[in-house]
Amino acid sequence: MTQILHEINLDYSDILIRPKMGINLNSRKDVNLQRIFKFKHGQTRTGLGVFNANMATVGNFSVAAKLLARGMFATLHKHYSVDEIGGFIKESKKENIPLDNLFITIGLKNTDAEIEKLKELESKYGWNSPRNICIDAPNFYIQKALDVLARVRHEFPDSVIMAGNIASGDICLKLLDYADIIKCGIGSGSACLTRKQTGCGTPMVSLILECADIAHSVGGHICADGGIVDVGDIAKAFCLNSDFIMVGGMFAGTDEAEGAVIEKHFETNEIIDGKRVIQTKFFKQYYGMSSEYANNKFAGGMSNYKTSEGRELLIPYTGSIDKVLQDINGGIASCCTYIGATSVKHMSKCATIIQVHNQLNKVFEKYSV
Ligand code: 5GP
Repeated sequence: MTQILHEINLDYSDILIRPKMGINLNSRKDVNLQRIFKFKHGQTRTGLGVFNANMATVGNFSVAAKLLARGMFATLHKHYSVDEIGGFIKESKKENIPLDNLFITIGLKNTDAEIEKLKELESKYGWNSPRNICIDAPNFYIQKALDVLARVRHEFPDSVIMAGNIASGDICLKLLDYADIIKCGIGSGSACLTRKQTGCGTPMVSLILECADIAHSVGGHICADGGIVDVGDIAKAFCLNSDFIMVGGMFAGTDEAEGAVIEKHFETNEIIDGKRVIQTKFFKQYYGMSSEYANNKFAGGMSNYKTSEGRELLIPYTGSIDKVLQDINGGIASCCTYIGATSVKHMSKCATIIQVHNQLNKVFEKYSV
């Protein structure tokens, strides 16, 4: 019989973190944003657990370099060739960009070729190990995904492996037999159509709580992927005990994201000297990896048994990614001072989460300049 689980699942917009008296932190500067991650399969990495999404638009070299330079984590999307990634590795070494936290993404198709690609990176470009691998599948519940994960672990026993996506706790232990980090989130992404097209998905807050609990019980880690709208959502995810957060849309309007800035002109209602005032606005393209656009670009078109589960968007251009990264650091540090957490690692221990009906005051939102 079909079951309905009556407990309401929550998303980022359903909660807030309640400020409280705790250890007195005088300044945001006193907060330690770096964390040491000891992974289930033996490796250790240090950094602020924020990733760029492994999408063609934001999983590119420019975005990755900026995150790595700031002590965060980064992925590269799966459509880069060995030589392209090799070039990035060489260049980063020259510029002293640390590569320890860089994850190379592979998909589920052509596993032999993907494994060969990782090995070639090692032999040809001195990518020592390869150290970190992201195995990407929109739906990790299929047996093929589990088989690929087991095989990749067998081939690269010393690598940190992140695998996903999943959206329930029941599969976590199975993945952690081979993976170090489970990527959690289905249907939350800003360029995602999965919930509309399939009716499937789980709200992020409840999902993080469930998966973090299970993963941590066996020494695994999780990455909350999709649905970050504001920096506050990143702070919430850390408070809920997510180890890592993955961000797509928030980086997609920046200079560093793939693609040119697109200029558009709009007629306004204002008339000056008898002429209608034209307003100029700037955009960047952002598209889901399962969108028709991505399928046309990378897979030679949409297969006739598939439906598009991603959208193509033009989103406002926001300038340099530095400003966004500064906001992320500042927002997380400030959250820590509100709850008395001395480090990101301690956020979940210090946080009290409240369920709310109204998260933000939007009264003047349309007057924003
Ligand atoms: P965002 O930060 O933009 O809210 O979410 C980024 C995440 O959306 C990605 O890391 C990935 O998990 C998910 N995503 C990317 N492209 C697609 C797509 O075409 N369809 C779906 N369902 N999810 C996508």
